[in-house]
Amino acid sequence: MSEPSIFTRILEGDIPSEIIAETENVFAIRDIAPKAPVHLLVIPKSPEYRNVVELAAGDPALLSEMIGLANSLAAEHSDGDFRLVFNTGPGAGQTVFHVHAHVLAGGLSEGSLGG
Ligand code: AMP
Repeated sequence: MSEPSIFTRILEGDIPSEIIAETENVFAIRDIAPKAPVHLLVIPKSPEYRNVVELAAGDPALLSEMIGLANSLAAEHSDGDFRLVFNTGPGAGQTVFHVHAHVLAGGLSEGSLGG
């Protein structure tokens, strides 16, 4: 069996991090290295899916739950507008293979695709 992901360890309280919101199947934390004024991570509690492609194929309702929480958090922490990023694969910058959405908001430069 592989080691628990850093996000599972946070969820289980092994690594300190504030869980700022949760739903039945999803939780959210602040990114430790923010790339925007608001940079949150929305993460399924289950580590079953490694990336968003696997998640969309395997459990679209869970993906929808993640997007719903991202939307609520963007309204709570910013003006409601947000960018949702799923890095998929090491070549795209994915470092944690427990699917997660980056929620970026607040003062994003117009037209930029960067994080
Ligand atoms: P990715 O590179 O898309 O896999 O995203 C992983 C994200 O997890 C990065 O943006 C990291 O800054 C973030 N991260 C890593 N460790 C922690 C931690 N202990 N608490 C919060 N965010 C973390």
